[in-house]
Amino acid sequence: MTDPLPPGSTIGILGGGQLGRMLAQAAAKLGLRTHVYSDRADDPAFELAAAATCGEFTDVARIAAFAETVDVITYEFENVPLEAAEAAERLRPLRPGSRALAVAQDRLIEKRFISGLGLPVAPFAEVSSPAMLARELETIGTPAILKTRRFGYDGKGQARIRTPGEASAALAELAGAPAILEGHVAFEREVSILVVRGHDGEVRTYDTPVNEHRDGILYRSTVPSSLEPSHRARAEEIGRLVADALDYVGLLAVEMFHISGDAKNPLIINEIAPRVHNSGHWTLDACHVSQFENHIRAVAGWPLGSTARHSNAVMTNLIGPEADDWRKLAEDPMLSLHLYGKREARAGRKMGHVTRLSPLTESGRAKDD
Ligand code: AMP
Repeated sequence: MTDPLPPGSTIGILGGGQLGRMLAQAAAKLGLRTHVYSDRADDPAFELAAAATCGEFTDVARIAAFAETVDVITYEFENVPLEAAEAAERLRPLRPGSRALAVAQDRLIEKRFISGLGLPVAPFAEVSSPAMLARELETIGTPAILKTRRFGYDGKGQARIRTPGEASAALAELAGAPAILEGHVAFEREVSILVVRGHDGEVRTYDTPVNEHRDGILYRSTVPSSLEPSHRARAEEIGRLVADALDYVGLLAVEMFHISGDAKNPLIINEIAPRVHNSGHWTLDACHVSQFENHIRAVAGWPLGSTARHSNAVMTNLIGPEADDWRKLAEDPMLSLHLYGKREARAGRKMGHVTRLSPLTESGRAKDD
């Protein structure tokens, strides 16, 4: 057991995007300071943090100097270089630790880890040559998806293979990057489980949102989902198992495919995000304690807050120019508008989100209270 960090303590955040920004806001609510480390001077988290360091993530000496100024360190994106995370971890507690990063950074390690827990994933195989791809396509079959092992996000670094004839084009698309081949899962919907685990091992889960994507980017998350209670319970069990196996501290998201008719494996795990997650942004407005605050509480060694939901919610991302409608969105009394302060509305860039609340039609996750 560690003593909780008292108000006035400083949490270091590796990464300065909107997730870091919302973590800094949550920390400030509890009287905690944040020091953000990121590599882009105009990152949205900087303007909300008490202290800022703009440096490369590969600059281990700079990361170590940053670590010396804080009491505990967390991260808001999973591609923090492992050497940097380990350098930070030598000086201060890193929560969640570098193991969660190592697992989530590489799709092959991640898939092996999840299936090693006895949890279902799509059929997968390592692919590092045309011959390997041809061989694995025979086993896994088509349709399939070739994905880079590292640095894939929002559908990037992926090529669909509908017929074996498309194999070489898929390899060319990935430009020789180490890859995995995944069998295509004929899912009905995508869901995620958001689980927070405290430093003492206590686990709480949020209600399971159903997530819709457009062009590989999350478009909308809705709670309650139409998942049957036993499948929701299974999602929670999956979240707990993964968090416990990683001895995780903080908020973790597990993205899953739902197949309601599959009695044995209704939920197939796609990937783990060792951080606060876009599919949990509705918790800011629809829950007693948001995913951001609960992450900060866990990282600071505080008691976890309630994950209960007091409203139904539909969270929609504002991508690129969609945020230009801010004036109209701000007029809607049932819409909670969040803008990330990004200056340039590039296509595909997450500029903000809106959450539409409506009265609770079924009990949220009240049992953790
Ligand atoms: P990922 O980057 O792995 O999250 O994949 C991006 C999106 O591609 C997912 O949200 C799914 O919609 C789709 N996808 C990824 N892997 C599979 C799969 N094995 N079967 C079917 N769809 C997939």
